[in-house]
Amino acid sequence: MKRILVGALAALMTASAALAAPNLSGMTAGELAIFLRAFPKGGELHNHLGGGTPAEALIAWAVEDGLCIDTEALAIRLSCSGDALRPAAAFVADEAQRSALIDSLTVRHPRFRGRSGHDQFFTAFSRRGQSARRTGDALAESLDGLARQNTFYAELMLTPQAASSRGMGARVGWRGDAAKTKAALSEAGLEALVPAVRADTDAMEARARVVMKCGRPEATPGCQVTVRYLFQAIRQGPPEQTMAQLQLGVAAVAADKRWVGLQLVAPEDSPDAVKYYDTHMRIVAELTDTGRTTPVALHAGELSLAIVAPDDLRDHVTKAVRVAGARRIGHGVGLPAETEAVAVAAEMAAKGILIEVNPISNRAILEVEPEDHPFSWFREMRVPVSLSTDDSGILRSDLSGDYALALKMGATYADLKTSARNAIAFSFLSGEGLWQDPNVYRKPASACRGQVGAADPKGACAELVATSDKAREQWRHERLLRMFEAGR
Ligand SMILES: [Zn+2]
Repeated sequence: MKRILVGALAALMTASAALAAPNLSGMTAGELAIFLRAFPKGGELHNHLGGGTPAEALIAWAVEDGLCIDTEALAIRLSCSGDALRPAAAFVADEAQRSALIDSLTVRHPRFRGRSGHDQFFTAFSRRGQSARRTGDALAESLDGLARQNTFYAELMLTPQAASSRGMGARVGWRGDAAKTKAALSEAGLEALVPAVRADTDAMEARARVVMKCGRPEATPGCQVTVRYLFQAIRQGPPEQTMAQLQLGVAAVAADKRWVGLQLVAPEDSPDAVKYYDTHMRIVAELTDTGRTTPVALHAGELSLAIVAPDDLRDHVTKAVRVAGARRIGHGVGLPAETEAVAVAAEMAAKGILIEVNPISNRAILEVEPEDHPFSWFREMRVPVSLSTDDSGILRSDLSGDYALALKMGATYADLKTSARNAIAFSFLSGEGLWQDPNVYRKPASACRGQVGAADPKGACAELVATSDKAREQWRHERLLRMFEAGR
């Protein structure tokens, strides 16, 4: 009797949930924008801190900090000595010059100076003039931006001690293979840079808390966001320099719980990235025991025939998964073009390897329109996906905008919910999750059965939520989701 009642209740709830599913295609653009900003998006797994700041904020900081503008390159420079440099304050006082500078720091002006979207995007990083002393300001900007979109978890990519680690890589050199180079880097004292990484992280977070006024009545919403960091290494230059950054990342993850994993960045189609791709995969495998000892997320398949030769489209995702042991793939747009695409997708589905999908970035950089994006195929193959911004400051976008563009890639409301839940379930947060079936979300952890979405966890569930970072963030998200759906 009880079972029948529970079954009938479940059927009723499913029916009411189906009735309540919002008709997104019937909404006007304005209704949709309001809906998606309020929709709890769980978190963001693919977000470069160095590309997340709006140009207007960078310009304001340049003026405050007395920086200069390279009037030929249209770039912010930390130093004012050299030709063609003018104080930022004087330069941006002229409205036309200020506007051209914003064009230069973003992708808002298509074909700016005749560049492709790809080239404008990737060259913009070197023009943004971001100094270490403003990293905390950039962090505050990113966290406030997410919180204002009802999103409270972020895994941000950055590279502390970039020059020190690369310098050590250059001095040590390549010793013939990854294992020998690893030993030589340790011998040279690479791991001794960890306290500096910790100090950089402390200083950045302290500055962000000041900017956001955390702990005071006027605190901004970003104070509510839980943040973790991915140590990003640059896949350009000699492999020993990339390796030094990755190896420092492994040590940082072991020493400091705020650091949760590795990433490899810079254009995947650039000459060094292509030339050393296999070497980089072997380095990651060596340093992480194929992803077992340190969580690994890798940009792979951020490629299309528009930007690389066919040879380079055959196996990047395949090798990131099978050689390096990546648990998450950034972009993956090129996966359907790979030789073993179907087998690799099946493997990703079986192992729970997620693709971080960046619709606005892919349109701007790879020139992949939403209707040509493989998102629906990922879903058909049951590969977990989660939506993210990549570099919202350069792309002049936000996470809600990526959710909106996903609808044009065939996403349904159920897909958006799954993307948001995946952003925490497939995060590198520590602890047991709230769900036994990530990417499906029908079976809560047994301790929390019947409680998910409630205000406060009870009994064993309260214990789980109190002791697991992942379960705590999932609990908060499920509550937000329940309230969002109930309020409609
Ligand atoms: Zn990226």
